[in-house]
Amino acid sequence: MPTRARPAFLALLGLAASLAVVAAPGDPPAKSQRLQQRIAELSKFGTNPEGGVSRVAFSAADIAGREYITGLMREAGLEVRVDTAGNIIGRREGSDPKLPAIMTGSHIDSVPGGGNYDGDVGVLGAIEVAQLLRDAGIKLRHPLEIVNFTDEEGGLVGSLAMTGRLEPAALEVMTHSGKTIRDGIGAVGGDPARLGEAVRKPSELKAFIELHIEQGAILHENDLDIGVVEGIVGIRWWDVTVTGVANHAGTTPMNRRRDAMLSAAEFALAVNRIATTLPGRHVATVGRIRAEPGAPNVIPGKVVMSLEIRDLEAAKIERVHAAVVAEAGKIAKARQTPISFAELQVASEPAPTDERMRRIIARAAESLGLKHQLMPSGAGHDAQDMTHIAPTGMIFVPSVGGVSHSPKEFTAPEDMANGANVLLQTILAIDRGALD
Ligand SMILES: [Zn+2]
Repeated sequence: MPTRARPAFLALLGLAASLAVVAAPGDPPAKSQRLQQRIAELSKFGTNPEGGVSRVAFSAADIAGREYITGLMREAGLEVRVDTAGNIIGRREGSDPKLPAIMTGSHIDSVPGGGNYDGDVGVLGAIEVAQLLRDAGIKLRHPLEIVNFTDEEGGLVGSLAMTGRLEPAALEVMTHSGKTIRDGIGAVGGDPARLGEAVRKPSELKAFIELHIEQGAILHENDLDIGVVEGIVGIRWWDVTVTGVANHAGTTPMNRRRDAMLSAAEFALAVNRIATTLPGRHVATVGRIRAEPGAPNVIPGKVVMSLEIRDLEAAKIERVHAAVVAEAGKIAKARQTPISFAELQVASEPAPTDERMRRIIARAAESLGLKHQLMPSGAGHDAQDMTHIAPTGMIFVPSVGGVSHSPKEFTAPEDMANGANVLLQTILAIDRGALD
């Protein structure tokens, strides 16, 4: 198998090509037309009247879409299998059988009433890379695996299974397809009774890279080509309860009230003030409120509110939370209304990407002349699970207007091709030893 010709002076100087990502003129560029055409073909499976797709996991549309991408993987020269969690994995061997695989991919399932790009760009972009390598006759040292994760939108099912973290109770959850996750996994060729076999060991994977649309407007509005993802933010939720004294709203003088609602109002303002004044990129929100007994003629005796805090770092979430608790203490004392916090078990840990991977992706973008920026992901992705077993990186491409989970979702063909080219250069760099 001929490898791509490298400039002779590199060899003469004894420079390891692995020291830097070099977008050599000979590297095949991703074809934006082919990507656009495949996006259009894939969008026929589960097409909705608004022009997007409702290709929910395990539905007939999802199964048909999976068959379509399986065909594309075979065309790209990949050996395709479905693991016991229903993940589709296309593999090409490397020249050194002892080396772990470089894995890349995303998901083709959608939310109900979704668009044509969320997840699809990452799967089709990964297949594009495999196709380019095959057409150019480039043999990597490492095996390359292209993955389509099962049921991403229903709770990262495939990547949780691959990292050995799918809770047994999750199998009983009913999905939009009308099947439980257990039945759905069976319907797409997996085996829910043997999920352990889908687990990959860290020693099997050299790296994981996910190409994805941004789903926000930062890249589009700032005229940037590529987002280098720093990580997926962690999320913590609390129920915040203010206890006052319910009493007659007509006969209780204004100076003799312990009004839980007033404390709650001060609390909501304090959360916003703290989140705005503490340095950092955290966000904090009071998004829900309920007063009891909840009548116009009764002073509220109890108010229950939500508090959500997100950040890329667990310690920063904790710092914001501590400041909020301290402020709540002052409000409680001043108004004689105790305020208590109960954390809800919906927390998702922050999942930072690998620092080396960020550098490799940034260099790949630079070598291609693409404008890039470091940025967090405020949305969840399969990559957050993969950080548990492999050095992980994420590449964002612009979403027009930041619209996502909507039929109006759009990413330009050139932006998809840019993403695939950065993915290709990232894989080539890792193959040449950029992570070693
Ligand atoms: Zn997605």
